[in-house]
Amino acid sequence: MSDQSGKDPSPELSALTRAVRAGLDTDTQFGSVVPALYPSTNYRFPSIDERPPFDYSRSANPTRAMLATTLATMEHGVTATVTGSGLGAITATVEALTGPRGRVVAPTDCYGGTWRLLDHLATKQRIDVEFVDMWDLDEAARALATPAELVFVETPSNPLMRITDVAAVARLAHAAGAIVVADNTFCSPLLQNPLTLGADVVVHSTTKFINGHSDVVGGAVISKTAETGELVAHWANALGLTGGAWDSWLTLRGLRTIDARMRVHQANAAAVVELLSNHPAVQAVYYPGLATHPGHDLAARQQSGFGSLLSFELTGGIDAVRRFTDGLQIIDLAESLGGTESLLAHPATMTHAGMSPEARAAAGITDSLLRLSLGIEPVDDLLNEIRSALDRAVA
Ligand SMILES: *Cc1c(COP(=O)(O)O)cnc(C)c1O
Repeated sequence: MSDQSGKDPSPELSALTRAVRAGLDTDTQFGSVVPALYPSTNYRFPSIDERPPFDYSRSANPTRAMLATTLATMEHGVTATVTGSGLGAITATVEALTGPRGRVVAPTDCYGGTWRLLDHLATKQRIDVEFVDMWDLDEAARALATPAELVFVETPSNPLMRITDVAAVARLAHAAGAIVVADNTFCSPLLQNPLTLGADVVVHSTTKFINGHSDVVGGAVISKTAETGELVAHWANALGLTGGAWDSWLTLRGLRTIDARMRVHQANAAAVVELLSNHPAVQAVYYPGLATHPGHDLAARQQSGFGSLLSFELTGGIDAVRRFTDGLQIIDLAESLGGTESLLAHPATMTHAGMSPEARAAAGITDSLLRLSLGIEPVDDLLNEIRSALDRAVA
């Protein structure tokens, strides 16, 4: 048995209500409102002739199943597998859905850990991989003129917020015989549902918006068909990638507030974008909500909100970056994103430090680029903090 057989107790509820109420009122022993946590690694067999619904927690766990069911519903999929990390979700997907030396096509600007995984698997001749500028449909079409097994899409991309047309890439990928996997981490299930746009599988780093509080590393794979979902669940169990019960419970708690969080995250991002766009210290702002962003119309079509991640370039180079970052009081200089606290990253020395300077330049990541993940702090405090930092940067 695997997590995917977790039953949805109230299929008539909207996805959002379900996120808020996931697992509430399911405790039959004491009637606890909040669901019980099942840390037990194992479950009793009634007899040697009968298997219990859950037997061993790597294969299936009631708390993890509750989270899986909720995420499947929110992404409009039929089944989900919860993993110990976002990269675990991507590993399970690649192992489940490719054969020996299966051809994988992925974006040049995919998440760095995804790039490393695919590159290393290719070095071991487990798969063949081609990285393409997926946001450029001519490039995607050129790569997908050759048959493929798996095509990755990640939109918006990190850190320049490039937007990829999920429906158009899915058409090209399906014509090439491929399964389409969308990494929906940056949008969360609230702002974009790739399965309804034509993708076959969605992966999440639940570490980010889904848990939302920067205190659990986790992942999930949501599938459009039961067949794909079974393969992913099988490989997640076989490889030992499934998530823990405590982490699942905490992630469910975080997920209950995702709608409220996303509204504040996005309002804060919009206010900060306006400040950045009108300040002399700033050379460029990359945010899909700006009408001048090349992916704006597409993002408006395929997303229901523009999210709370953005990047910007300062006019004064690396010295301006130092003046901007030295003296920040409420915005932490840290990697990761999607938490309640605002985080600032300097891609050239942090998230993208592993790339050569030439590769970074080719990817458009200059030393003057900063990425912001807006949290849910009061907007005036954020604006004051960023205005002071910009004034320092211009000096
Ligand atoms: C963080 C992240 C991942 C990896 O997730 P982990 O939980 O850190 O393993 C994958 N994709 C994207 C877009 C991410 O931001």
